[in-house]
Amino acid sequence: MTEQTPVVIVGTGLSGYSLVREFRKLDKETPVIMVTADDGISYSKPMLSTGFTKDKDADGLAQASPESMAEQLGVEIRPWSTVTGIDTDAHELVLGDRRLRYGKLVLAWGADVIRLSLKGDAQDRVFSINDLVDYRAFRKALAGGQRVAIMGAGLIGCEFANDLRNGGYEVDVIAPDADLMPSLLPEAAAGAVRSELENLGVRFHLGTVVEQVTRQGGGVELALGNGETLQADLVVSAVGLRPRTELARSAGIAANRGIQVNRALETSAPDVYALGDCAEVDGRVLLYVLPLMACARALAKTLSGVRTEVAYGTMPVMVKTPCCPTAVCPPPPEAEGEWRTEQDGSSVKALFVSPAGATLGFAVTGRFAVEKQMLARDVPPLHQ
Ligand code: FAD
Repeated sequence: MTEQTPVVIVGTGLSGYSLVREFRKLDKETPVIMVTADDGISYSKPMLSTGFTKDKDADGLAQASPESMAEQLGVEIRPWSTVTGIDTDAHELVLGDRRLRYGKLVLAWGADVIRLSLKGDAQDRVFSINDLVDYRAFRKALAGGQRVAIMGAGLIGCEFANDLRNGGYEVDVIAPDADLMPSLLPEAAAGAVRSELENLGVRFHLGTVVEQVTRQGGGVELALGNGETLQADLVVSAVGLRPRTELARSAGIAANRGIQVNRALETSAPDVYALGDCAEVDGRVLLYVLPLMACARALAKTLSGVRTEVAYGTMPVMVKTPCCPTAVCPPPPEAEGEWRTEQDGSSVKALFVSPAGATLGFAVTGRFAVEKQMLARDVPPLHQ
């Protein structure tokens, strides 16, 4: 009897591990090989911005070793194995000078952090935190320090600001926009989060950017575009993520903002699928956990022989700023309507209402945050 060609999954983040968990519920036999460029440790990435609040370092956030995941899931896991190419005609992955044959291939290789080109001699003091390996390096570098400058006031920058203040660090946040989380929150909700973070001691420098980071004593000095200078022990860069598309493009797989897949998570190449932060599903790039879980459930069925399309429901995003609990369900980008806001101090309830009176999105902060589940019921699912 010939051996069955394996399902190969690239990536052991939440997408890769969620998919294999779902797949094993349906198919315990087909061989699965997971390859990953990192250590293969299972962890929950959203927890990276809660380490100080929950008093957990990188080891504390690690949930399971690749060996124990392999045993639990009945799969083979190859850590520290970086994919360098895909030969879609031969159905082979290229890993440096080695090749790995696949029956079906799943790309779950995530997104890269955007790195700003800064002047100055202290680039090695600028940390991006996009996985557990990064987090370990960041915590090690921070030991003994007291002051952190964060570039970016998006969801991740704001969560780290809150978490680092909870850990007792001095925190400066520098960002070019006038508001926090501009692509996610309406103005009133952004103002509420800002005011509670300021009450917690976070200092904001908005409407400007970091131009230069130079060494100063054991720390760094940041020169801002508005002429200000700031001192810090190190810098966290939280300026955004870009889905990893290069290797797919080089293999002739269609990519736009992300690797393009239809609702069955099929790429333009036969037997190659994608999900998670690297994927653009039916035109949408959603770098969150709920969409990738929905994709993992659908793709598991497809891989086990029943072609299944993902159906996105309503997917609110929780912002982990405990000083100002916040949840948001952004309206679709093309939606017509207006924000209607009710405010009581830092408690904001903003509903995005269509001309016909339908609620298409919401943002709630402070005491209104508990209404998120109820409000989510009124918002139409992303896939009708
Ligand atoms: P990743 O976790 O990035 O995994 C990618 C995998 O691919 C890794 O194993 C990597 O080593 C591997 N890989 C990459 N390139 C190669 C290669 N060439 N060869 C082999 N392997 C490769 N979302 C929410 O919904 N709620 C939250 O509260 C939330 N908080 C967050 C907080 C932080 C600090 C961050 C950074 C993100 C947060 N997110 C949150 C987003 C969410 O965590 C991600 O959407 C999700 O974890 C992405 O998982 P993934 O498996 O697609 O990608």
